[in-house]
Amino acid sequence: MFRKALLILTVFFLAISVLPAENTVNVTAFADELDVQLYWDPLTGSCMFEKNGHSVSFRTGEEIALFDYATFAMIEAPTVKKGSLFISSDFADKIQGLFDAQSNESLFKVGAILIDPGHGGKDPGAVAEHTINGKKVTVCEKDITLAASKKLYSQLQKEYPDKKIVLTRSDDRYLSLEERVSIANSLSLAPDEAVLYLSIHVNSAFDKKAAGFEVWYLSPGYRRTVISEDEVDDASLRNILNSMMEEEYTTESILIAKYIQDGLNLEIGDKVPNRGIKQEEWFVVRNANMPSVLVELGFVSNPAEAALMVDDAYLNKMVSGIYNGLVAFVTHFEQSRGFTGLQER
Ligand SMILES: [Zn+2]
Repeated sequence: MFRKALLILTVFFLAISVLPAENTVNVTAFADELDVQLYWDPLTGSCMFEKNGHSVSFRTGEEIALFDYATFAMIEAPTVKKGSLFISSDFADKIQGLFDAQSNESLFKVGAILIDPGHGGKDPGAVAEHTINGKKVTVCEKDITLAASKKLYSQLQKEYPDKKIVLTRSDDRYLSLEERVSIANSLSLAPDEAVLYLSIHVNSAFDKKAAGFEVWYLSPGYRRTVISEDEVDDASLRNILNSMMEEEYTTESILIAKYIQDGLNLEIGDKVPNRGIKQEEWFVVRNANMPSVLVELGFVSNPAEAALMVDDAYLNKMVSGIYNGLVAFVTHFEQSRGFTGLQER
């Protein structure tokens, strides 16, 4: 019943699709014809076709399209007529070409995972004094972040011998934020390889009852320059491409954040609150040209949670949570597309 109704609807769309103008194609009907998913936000003009992890992004009124977030092409600007979106038949052919050829294309890979233990050396991060098992203990953020990061590092190295797993620091040393970012940006990888950036921190609050873990991702409001002048010399085109790429980095960052949050929730969600996914612009990652998240493991200011975080068994559980989330993301990512280099088609 339902299928028949859909079919009739498709036929109806097809019938009206070719009518309006010469050499243009109605995107709704075109999406049905190709059996691809269509996303269109009439407010911003953003539009995307997606199928099996491959995508074509473009905007109304803009003469550029982005294929799989990896290559771009100059097109006739898509237009809106009577509430329907139209693209040139030339552009439609290019799109069809992408979805036809997709099975032979090589898949994108995560080439490196960069783990950044927050603080270190002269910068202890959040500090709290607690009595744990009858002993007075000074609990420092920099020690917890390093211990967790090193455990995560060795687990990831074991799982992914072919990927670069990198720690920004492996001992108690001070690194400026700029130094962390430059380590992130200096990793050399193949054009089809991406880097994931994971920063690990510990929270603190005046309210000693505040507790739980949270995962942050980069705010979409911050526009990084991901495409340089060498790649695209027209400034306005570069701006459009940059904001399209930025949307992609943000989407992937939210996805990693979600996987890690789920992973942590399975491991420690029965002991401490899950504070959810948050978004902000932090310096550590906003200059890194890669999808990035920051994990706050728990509150050092909360006596019970501080005692948990200095316990090795609990630390292992937290690390397992992050590890499982990352592995789930990498699996998802490597089965879909990437967001690495950029070339003109
Ligand atoms: Zn911190």
